[in-house]
Amino acid sequence: MNYNIAVIPGDGIGPEVINETLKVLDRVAEKYGHRFGYQKLLAGGSAIDSTGVPLPADTVSACRSSDAVLLGAVGGWKWDTLPGDKRPEAALLGLRKALGLFANIRPAMLFDELASACPLKPEITEGGLDIVIVRELTGGIYFGEKGTKETDMGHAAYDVELYSEKEVRRIAVTAFEMAMKRGRKVTSVDKANVLESSRLWRRVVAEVAEDYPQVILDNLYVDNAAMQLVRAPRQFDVIVTSNIFGDILSDEASQITGSIGMLPSASLAEGNFGMYEPVHGSAPDIAGQDKANPMATVLSAAMMLRYTLGLSKEADDVENAVRSVLREGCRTPDLLEENRTGDIRTIGTEEAGTMIAARI
Ligand code: NAD
Repeated sequence: MNYNIAVIPGDGIGPEVINETLKVLDRVAEKYGHRFGYQKLLAGGSAIDSTGVPLPADTVSACRSSDAVLLGAVGGWKWDTLPGDKRPEAALLGLRKALGLFANIRPAMLFDELASACPLKPEITEGGLDIVIVRELTGGIYFGEKGTKETDMGHAAYDVELYSEKEVRRIAVTAFEMAMKRGRKVTSVDKANVLESSRLWRRVVAEVAEDYPQVILDNLYVDNAAMQLVRAPRQFDVIVTSNIFGDILSDEASQITGSIGMLPSASLAEGNFGMYEPVHGSAPDIAGQDKANPMATVLSAAMMLRYTLGLSKEADDVENAVRSVLREGCRTPDLLEENRTGDIRTIGTEEAGTMIAARI
């Protein structure tokens, strides 16, 4: 099959990790007889330097006509003094909005080979961890009405958390569909004991659950969920939650897995379209030094193969190739532990990409 992939390398380590990921995708194409056409596009700081804006209109239209978008990372010290809407990161919000990306999917998986990097006690994670957080991405308090006003307590500010039934229903459907392909459990996280918006959230999620009798639905208040993630994370399969709660819980869950260099993500629109990117940023402190771990981006590409292109076998192959490299004791610098034992070899960004591609 032929696929048209919009590729946004971005800034800092973005182009480095994207290069290695394309190496891996080329190998997938060769092995399985696919053709991936890459259209390289500007966004972020590199777009500001060449066009004056963080998200050129050409980039948006090329993304819209692609099958999927693969993004490295944007941002860097050079652009830090620009006002908010002119900064490289504005490209990310712009892309989410323009492409209708309402669901952010973040797996938190603990690879056996990296188990000792997990800050939790071994008995808590014994048997492995495999959680997916489904975060609503375009609604809630980050997009609600906001402002400031004078009150009898002085100057005040407010941000409104507002969710419609439609917004909750579509994110709940995404979560239940995902659970059907995994462990068949959804934990919906809210604050229904206090918030009206959470009571609507809980009611709509329960309605959606009726269409998925094979899936167990559990409801947790967000404070309890934050506690359970470190106390007993193996109880979770798919967690579905609002924009703000998901922002916080997904960072907490990511810490369980060891390194930020291992964390992929997807942002999905209605239908199969999605944008895939590592959770990490552009890491300007290590850019251009062959030190960046490309695995988060490679694993994001594996999610793209699975969720948008429907190529599960190919996605499994990529994930297994990453696992093989780790099993062979090869680690980029971010994965080295101080008290490491056994036969561990340090590898750079390029060697990591070459090794993963060679194991497909
Ligand atoms: P960061 O994720 O770029 O870096 C945090 C730390 O993790 C750094 O020490 C970095 O060296 C390390 N790190 C990150 N990715 C790594 C990898 N693949 N391999 C090895 N080490 C890695 O976060 P930051 O320093 O807060 O932000 C740097 C820039 O990135 C800022 O401009 C920020 O706005 C931007 N940012 C962009 C995105 C995105 O494009 N989605 C996300 C977060 C931050």
